[in-house]
Amino acid sequence: MTPFSYRCTDCGRSFSRDEVRYLCPECGKAYRPGIPLVGVLEVVFDYAVIGRAFDRARPDWNLFCPVEKEFHPPIQVGNTPLSRVDRLADGLGLPSLWVKNDGLNPSGSLKDRASFLVVAEARRLGMDLIVAASTGNAASALAAVCAATDIKALIFVPETAPKAKLVQMVLCGATVVPIQGTYDDAFTLSLEFTDQRGGLNRNTAYHPLTIEGKKTVGLEIWAQLGFQVPDAILVSVGDGVIIGGVHKAFVDLQRAGLIDRLPRLIGVQAETSDAIHRYVETGQYSDAPNPTTRADSISVTCPSNAHGARRAILESRGLTLTVTDEEILDAQSLLAARTGIFTEPAGAAALAGLVKLQASPNRLATSGPVILLATGHGLKDVEAPLSRISIPPAVAPVLAALAL
Ligand SMILES: *Cc1c(COP(=O)(O)O)cnc(C)c1O
Ligand SMILES: [Zn+2]
Repeated sequence: MTPFSYRCTDCGRSFSRDEVRYLCPECGKAYRPGIPLVGVLEVVFDYAVIGRAFDRARPDWNLFCPVEKEFHPPIQVGNTPLSRVDRLADGLGLPSLWVKNDGLNPSGSLKDRASFLVVAEARRLGMDLIVAASTGNAASALAAVCAATDIKALIFVPETAPKAKLVQMVLCGATVVPIQGTYDDAFTLSLEFTDQRGGLNRNTAYHPLTIEGKKTVGLEIWAQLGFQVPDAILVSVGDGVIIGGVHKAFVDLQRAGLIDRLPRLIGVQAETSDAIHRYVETGQYSDAPNPTTRADSISVTCPSNAHGARRAILESRGLTLTVTDEEILDAQSLLAARTGIFTEPAGAAALAGLVKLQASPNRLATSGPVILLATGHGLKDVEAPLSRISIPPAVAPVLAALAL
């Protein structure tokens, strides 16, 4: 661990780490449920220490980690494969296309990275309950990481969350409260719970270490490319915390003097859950009132990290685009058929965006590395692709019966 403080991303004030920190004590006063978070805190390290100590021959990621190693939960998160996908790249005009397969985390999504760090922080603080609202994956992730420790997880999820995700949380021993309402309703309820009844709140972006946890995917990408900054990274966007975390990885590397430029961040949203996309395009924020997308993990009315995501995209000279559910499911099947990687609909949104981008005037024309983040495992929601494929009927086990 490197010494750090928290800095408010709105007013710039700094705060020490020793207590529970959520939003900036000043700017956070303007927050009320139903608007994007304000006063989100950012971890600011002593970057001179990192710059001096980091050794490419033996990378020590703890230098970039705001919780001491002794508190890390005993479960292996991250270090997921980055694979070059030439069969997929062919049709897209990108000679160096890669997929980072974060579906291979213990609970099957990138959310494990955030839960890992928040659970580590709860252990440091000696707390025994963590509370979260989730569309599904953050809750499965919290349940899984807590199961490796003595900490209890209390989870609020929309009752419509895919079955497999609900099964994961229950099996891992979390207290699961399905809500007759949306993810946004669950978010508000969980804040009321921790305000009035206690527990550490893990809500995405509200707890600053969620962003730091998700950051680790960006650090790994850099190392896996042989310590090279990719030209672009495509990320599916719901609350905007993954894209904020990926950005923070490269900002940390740049502040430590280890890299000299940032990758372009391309955020992809579902057409009906497009609040961040419109905010980036117009500079005006408004909710996505009716997010009906099948990509449940990116279905959100009011993205908690809308402000941070917009800043990350603009600072990286990136862009956003939206895709339909049809395009998402096409991309899910294209990815599986060309790479063997089966990602859930939200994970496939990034590829859907790339396909759309490459057919547009803004197409990426680079020979440098372009990365697709596959954020969650496809087995988490088999109903979505089942709506479009049919499983062949069974035949008698005799050669003559085969129509092949
Ligand atoms: C949470 C999630 C996302 C979106 O991440 P945000 O931080 O909400 O933008 C994308 N894909 C999957 C599989 C997720 O679980
Ligand atoms: Zn502030």
